[in-house]
Amino acid sequence: MKSIAVFCGSSLGASDAYRQGAILLGKELAKRQITLIYGGASVGIMATVANTVLEEGGKVIGVIPTLLEEREIAHQQLTELIVVKTMHERKSKMMELADGFIALPGGPGTLEEFFEVFTWNQIGLLQKPCAIFNMERYFDLLISFFDHMQNEQFLKAQYREALIVDEDAAALLDKCESFVPPAVKTYELSK
Ligand code: AMP
Repeated sequence: MKSIAVFCGSSLGASDAYRQGAILLGKELAKRQITLIYGGASVGIMATVANTVLEEGGKVIGVIPTLLEEREIAHQQLTELIVVKTMHERKSKMMELADGFIALPGGPGTLEEFFEVFTWNQIGLLQKPCAIFNMERYFDLLISFFDHMQNEQFLKAQYREALIVDEDAAALLDKCESFVPPAVKTYELSK
């Protein structure tokens, strides 16, 4: 695995524990020489991950749309900053550059980006690991909802099982590195 994209908050969260978790992941990425791909901003815990990877001697590529370049203050010290025209272009560029995806605590923007890669894996447009870094058990409610989807048969077991979840950064990356993509989704005719 050469690169991983993180999706995470443009905020720092209510507790410093989120920033600490972001630092642990950044250190682990640099140690494994995995290039970080992220949104290219200087705000929130996304910037914490980026700054940690850089401080530890790793590589960071930011992908930021012109719309957010000023608002989210594009990070000027990255290994590479790619400026794109639209939010959609940003997501496709990140998907192209990354060998896997990790969601860290964040808000609706984080979930929007994560759901796209997770669902694209189901329909075979992507076949790359999608992981949730469940630091501070931030995502417990979402994970319960995925279980509910599976129990109610709106999410197939193989895609629920393909979703990587861990509270520990090193264990999460180990799981990403040994990921085997599930079969592409098939459909049943409605009764
Ligand atoms: P949030 O998790 O709500 O703090 O959002 C995290 C980041 O996701 C934001 O700073 C945006 O840069 C990014 N984002 C939000 N919505 C989208 C979208 N539709 N497509 C691509 N990036 C997005």
